[in-house]
Amino acid sequence: MHANKNSFIIDAKWLIPVVPEGTVLEDSSLVISNNLIIDICPHQQAHDNYPHLAIEDLTQHAVMPGLINTHGHAAMTLLRGYADDKALMEWLENYIWPIESTLVSYDFVYDGTLLAIAEMISSGTTCTADSYFFPDAVAAAFHDQKFRAQVACPVVQFPTNWANDEEEHISKAMLFYERYKQHPHIYPAIAPHAPYSVSDRGFEEIAKHSKAHNIPVHLHLHETVGELQTETGQRPLQRIYDHGLFNSLLQTVHMTQLNDAEIQLLAANQVHVAHCPDSNLKLASGFCPVDKLRHKGVNVAVGTDGAASNNNLDMLAEIRSATLLSKGVTLDPTSISAAQALSMGTINGAKLLGIEDQVGSLEIGKQADVIAIDMSSFELQPVHNPISQIVYSANGNHVSDVWINGQQLLKHRKLTQLDTTALTDKVNMWRQSIRQIST
Ligand SMILES: [Zn+2]
Repeated sequence: MHANKNSFIIDAKWLIPVVPEGTVLEDSSLVISNNLIIDICPHQQAHDNYPHLAIEDLTQHAVMPGLINTHGHAAMTLLRGYADDKALMEWLENYIWPIESTLVSYDFVYDGTLLAIAEMISSGTTCTADSYFFPDAVAAAFHDQKFRAQVACPVVQFPTNWANDEEEHISKAMLFYERYKQHPHIYPAIAPHAPYSVSDRGFEEIAKHSKAHNIPVHLHLHETVGELQTETGQRPLQRIYDHGLFNSLLQTVHMTQLNDAEIQLLAANQVHVAHCPDSNLKLASGFCPVDKLRHKGVNVAVGTDGAASNNNLDMLAEIRSATLLSKGVTLDPTSISAAQALSMGTINGAKLLGIEDQVGSLEIGKQADVIAIDMSSFELQPVHNPISQIVYSANGNHVSDVWINGQQLLKHRKLTQLDTTALTDKVNMWRQSIRQIST
């Protein structure tokens, strides 16, 4: 066993592998070799069996798999707080789409994605599912920062700064797919924006490409009641089903409006749901029936949505919202336990992205996407149950250390790779540009 910086031992006070759900291993070590988890065992056994490896002492910490954010628009961090307290369509049509048509460029997207990466790493997220214009800029930022991400190319039927019409959005998405299909930690996908912004022909084309190449499809669906009022009277979910998009490659986002027959249809076709509780609350969109979906066997994961409708990317806060909201909506305090919420923020996200054989839990053979949460602060004491503490008491600021694919990107709360001074300067520059346009 050779000592190198991608081979080491993490000594944890509490090791939470997530699989099996609810398990806590006390005074256990995670052994990482060449980016992979190769052993999980008591501290002394790890030290005896791997004597050449450096030891990371995290004996005041809970160590768990990195959080997986299954829905976001990273570059929109630059629009955080730009237009709040609006209804979804007013927010999109009068604020977000006009500023996007003026300002969004390769540089805007690259810099905004960097800001999101800084926030995500600092709050324990190690993988995200993104969809935004200029996906090459999104992918370049994730690639440069060694961050794991599904990057979906957006498709809409109106012109954007990235493509002139629906056809061009789709053809650019396919070129992007070809460029990134072999990338080790960037997974290309296609994101028809929503039923109200993509044509029947567009959905047919997307279904054809998805089937031919196994490309994941990422779609905002049944976000609001208003979305159900269509010209034909047909519910959008039925239209998506009729276009042949219902299968395990489909990642539906929001899903606040669902009847029992639709839940059955999702379960029967292994369609995934990305639940975004804070965004749904902020835009008053409605409540995703997470409890019913889970009981019918639908895989439900959690996402923050963009920072312009949340307004943060803190996944620990998001899974807390997911469990509290479900209890509130069902009037059942046993709905979505802390352990289930932790699964929704990790392994269920990996399943939604089709990468559960690589990440989402701490298991031998998986890639080392690992986070440590410092449990020593007063607001996390005393630790009767570390899983409850993480879900109900902690937030992203308690995350101290983060590894993605065995590489340490956060050390004692400091980002190890990202030039934070340059990033702050760029964010300020964009703030001024946005201000000039909107005044
Ligand atoms: Zn969204």
